[in-house]
Order: sequence, then C-alpha cells, then structure tokens
Amino acid sequence: PQHVVVVGAGMAGAQTAVALREEGFAGSVTLIGAEPHQPYDRPPLSKAVLLGTAEDPAFDIDFEELRVTLCLGVRVTGLRADAREVDTDRGPVGYDALVLATGAEPVVLPGTHDVPGVHLLRTLDDAARLRPVLERSHDVVVVGAGWIGAEFTTAARAAGCAVTVVEAADHPLAGTLPAEVAAPMAAWYAESGAVLLTDARVDRVVPGAVHLADGREIPAGAVLVGIGARPATRWLEGSGIALGPDGSVTADATLRTSLPDVYAVGDCASFPSARFGERLLVHHWDNALQGPSTAAAAITTGRAPVYDPVPYFWSEQFDRFVQYAGHHTAADTPLWRGTPDDPAWTVCWLRDGVLTAVLAVGRPRDLTQGRKLVAAGARIDPARAADPSVPLRSA
Ligand code: FAD
Repeated sequence: PQHVVVVGAGMAGAQTAVALREEGFAGSVTLIGAEPHQPYDRPPLSKAVLLGTAEDPAFDIDFEELRVTLCLGVRVTGLRADAREVDTDRGPVGYDALVLATGAEPVVLPGTHDVPGVHLLRTLDDAARLRPVLERSHDVVVVGAGWIGAEFTTAARAAGCAVTVVEAADHPLAGTLPAEVAAPMAAWYAESGAVLLTDARVDRVVPGAVHLADGREIPAGAVLVGIGARPATRWLEGSGIALGPDGSVTADATLRTSLPDVYAVGDCASFPSARFGERLLVHHWDNALQGPSTAAAAITTGRAPVYDPVPYFWSEQFDRFVQYAGHHTAADTPLWRGTPDDPAWTVCWLRDGVLTAVLAVGRPRDLTQGRKLVAAGARIDPARAADPSVPLRSA
C-alpha cells in the first residue's frame, strides 16, 4: 500500500504509526484524531493529572520525524470500503490500508446526559474539568466501584473531598473479579475515608444530589460516573464491517477486519484468543501498545504473527499497586497466596491445573512470574503456589 490511514490518535493509533515505520513501511501515513490535543497517554488522567502533579501526558513521539501527517480535531464519520475512503467532518480521505483505533467511550448513566455537575473521565478535557472540582473539596458521589471509580476515589480523597461511592453489585470491581476476591477491597474504600454503598442503585441525579432507588438522597457537589466503556464504533454502523454484540470490531488473529485492507487495534477491537479459547475485548493500555505491531506487520509485509497476548493491566488505588495478567472465567478456580489481611497478596486462577490468570496486590514479582507461566500454559502445584514465601513456578 502507498497510503495508510489510521483513525483515532490514542495509544493504539499513535503506536500504529510508530510500528509502521519500525516495520519499514515507506509510504505515507495519516493519523486522524477527534481530540484537538497532541496524542497523549490516558492512565495518568485518573491519577497524577487529576491532582495536578503530572508532567504533560503527551506521548514522546516525534511525528514529523516519522513523516506522519497528524490531523487533529478531525472526526471520522463514516467508512465506504468500496471506494476506499473514510468521511470526515472536513471531507473524504482515501486510503490503501486503513487501521481503526477509535478506542472506547464511557457509558453514560441514563438520564444524566445534560445534568450539570455530572462528569465522565476518559479524556484530557474531562480531567481538566474535574481538577477544579477536586480543588473545591466538594461532596463527591462516584457511581461505579470499577477501576476508574477506585482511582478517582483515591484522588478525590487525597484532595480532601467527602466521597460516597454507589455500586449496584455487592462488591467492587464486579465486572472483572468474583466476590471472594474483590470483597476485601471494599475495606480499602473505608480505610481511605470514602463511603462505599454496595447493592445500591441510582434512581436519578438532580443538580446537587443523587437519589437512590431505596429512597436515600446523597448530597453531591459533583458526580463522577464510571460504569464502564464501550468500543467507539457507532460511526461504523452501515459500513458493512462486522461488529460484535459488545460493539467491538471483530478482528481476526492478525487484527484484520471483515473488510479488505481494514485492520483494528486497541480498545475498539476484539480478537480470537486460541490461548484462552474465546474472543477477547481488552480495554487496557498494554493491548493498545502491543496490538499495533501485528497490524503494522500485516500491512507492510502481508505476513503477521498471530496476536494472542497474555493480557496485562495495572491500577493504582488506595496506596496499592494492583496488577493482573491473563484471563480467567467463572469456571476457573481461584487460589490465594496470602490473605487479604496481609499488606500484599496474590490470587492465581487455575483451569485443570493450568495457570490462567494472576492478580497481584503489591507483589510485582508474582505478577512477572505468573505472567510468564500463563504465557507458557504451565501447570502449577496448588499446594506450593499457595505458599507466598516460595516463588511461583511450574509444577
Ligand atoms: P483511546 O485511548 O480511547 O484512543 C482513541 C482515540 O480515538 C481517542 O482520542 C478518540 O477521541 C479518537 N476517536 C474516537 N472516535 C473517533 C472518530 N470517529 N474520529 C476520529 N477520532 C476518533 N489501562 C491500564 O492498563 N492501566 C491503567 O492504569 C489505566 N488507566 C486508565 C485511566 C483512564 C482515566 C482511562 C480512560 C483509561 C485507563 N486505562 C488504563 C485504559 C487505557 O488507557 C486504554 O486501554 C487505552 O487508552 C486504549 O487506547 P486506544 O488507542 O485503543 O483508545
């Protein structure tokens, strides 16, 4: 191909441009992003950026030197694969190969779209709007005790806000972790001075207050909604591209989509994992970093390694470093290394004796070793793995 167009200038889009040059692609590369800012890194937004202690989160990438044409503040509105063109709010752009990297967008709590004082946290602009909220030391209500809710609560408590967290499930992180693993994390909220209400549903949000379904009313100078994110793929409806029920672009094992010469990477794409025996939609930074080299190799050389990573992510919350590698299902058996009362602990998941995932709280070595064992499909001895004083290794 002569001209590669990348739609979405987040981690996955920017890395695609870098990876194309690393692969030796010599043609032209156009990177189109809806946000007006230089491409930047998202994880600091719920951490140091909120507290005003972060360096500029812009990526340290010299797009000029890479000969990448950056089109910022430009939204792509449609794809016409027959004509090999995308439509943008500045007119059509032709491509020989196209990479979809539009990421994800936060789920909006119904009925709160235009209520003043209700915030989401996905973009630099969102974080900029939230910073003065924290500086005013408001009463803050957080809807959702997921990863974003936990990190935002941590920052808001550090800023001296009174924080109430409303969670519909009976434990935090219910989207990812079973109750027996995540229930102890409820104590982290209490320890930080936040109030966590589980089994609690928001009925409606009005300016200044959140009303729960059970009749309780919680004063709220501001509300942060962190109830999940969905692939930003609505603009692709009607393009003929295959989308999954979760809204993801359903890519194949080399990140090709159902349309010719169209690839998908990062938060907007799902891919089949032979390793885990199911299609994965991963909304984490490492996936947006790693996937692009596969797509870039496929575009440049026509051959690409199969993309079947051991997913990895981290979270910084309540003075703890939480890391997870692998992929477990409800059918896998959790195995504790240590107890939740310890300052640091790990949970491993086993499927027929094989390690499928590891969650490490303040035990980065367990994470590193566990990640390698998951990658190797290693069997582990449960009795030995349960002893936190001996390193994790294969049986
Ligand atoms: P995005 O970063 O969402 O980038 C997509 C870009 O495409 C956006 O800039 C968007 O404006 C643009 N776009 C969308 N639609 C269009 C369109 N139609 N036209 C043009 N442009 C478009 N992961 C971790 O592993 N650890 C963490 O600690 C962590 N912290 C996080 C904290 C926050 C606050 C958030 C929001 C995410 C965090 N993540 C973390 C997840 C990680 O940031 C994402 O997985 C990663 O950003 C995904 O990269 P992406 O490029 O696929 O998507």
